Amino acid sequence: PFHKSKGQHILKNPLLVDTIVQKAGIKSTDVILEIGPGTGNLTKKLLELGKSVIAVELDPRMVLELQRRFQGTPHSNRLKVIQGDVLKCDLPYFDICVANIPYQISSPLTFKLLSHRPVFRCAVIMFQREFAMRLVAQPGDNLYCRLSVNTQLLARVSHLLKVGKNNFRPPPKVDSSVVRIEPRKPLPPVNFKEWDGLIRLCFNRKNKTLGSIFRQKSVLSLLEKNYKTLQALQFSQKGSSVDADIAEDVSVLADNSQDPNMDIDDGRDDDDMEMEDGDGGVEGSDFKDKVLGVLKQGDFEEKRSSKLTQVDFLYLLSLFNKAGIHFS
Ligand code: SAM
Repeated sequence: PFHKSKGQHILKNPLLVDTIVQKAGIKSTDVILEIGPGTGNLTKKLLELGKSVIAVELDPRMVLELQRRFQGTPHSNRLKVIQGDVLKCDLPYFDICVANIPYQISSPLTFKLLSHRPVFRCAVIMFQREFAMRLVAQPGDNLYCRLSVNTQLLARVSHLLKVGKNNFRPPPKVDSSVVRIEPRKPLPPVNFKEWDGLIRLCFNRKNKTLGSIFRQKSVLSLLEKNYKTLQALQFSQKGSSVDADIAEDVSVLADNSQDPNMDIDDGRDDDDMEMEDGDGGVEGSDFKDKVLGVLKQGDFEEKRSSKLTQVDFLYLLSLFNKAGIHFS
């Protein structure tokens, strides 16, 4: 009866359901968003604790089952079921999101929630264990990656609970973890397109030194192209600063969330495979000096992304931008 392709693994352990809702810290005034309610085991508890529940479910059979389960109960008028793909529908207002989701939508869903406005208070979500560990990974941890840095730029994330396979029916192949995500208020004042451009470069080879990453021909020529475009633009607009244009839309961070580099460490490391621009190269060497000068200024040349904090990256981005070097 369960669809594997829809990630249907039903929570069968009632004690675990109790623990999850208890850790979520639901208030009686909360409008709760649930994603993928399935047969409604979690939904029932959410209805008991919150003001109302909006549940988004893809599978029409599950929607029917859910409606049948709560029909005629005192809860039924506080439950709204939306049938559809959560990634495609407009989300309504909610205070808190509590969900045991299909794992294949983890990354796009996380960024969809984080770009939702108005900003919600918190989300308590079951993820595949490895994805959860990437979300909360800190500099120096093995799983620290672009996903960690981007999520932690927008939210405080904490690991709440390890959940074994056998709490589900049918049991999935992987272990799970429940994570709390609390959006930062206010968000750091950063241009998210710029941020994303820098972070992509830096984590493309997260164990290489930044000095080596920024000596790559492909990187230098990309940055030089941006540099020249902006200079031409600034010249034609006389004085209006491009830096003042802060992108408000955090959803850029979700672009290409299927990008394998987002979630998966490909295991490539310091082996230099790229052609580097030989010192004293002909064209572009002034620009190269400019870029390396920025790295030296912030003492970043020998540093590796795998060890840098969010504050380090914000500082690095500000140094680059001050030098007129842009990533988007
Ligand atoms: N919440 C239930 C529980 O804990 O027992 C079921 C969880 S099950 C892991 C995931 C549920 O999400 C399934 O009911 C599935 O049909 C639904 N689902 C899958 N893809 C979805 C999508 N894109 N949007 C909304 N719901 C989806």
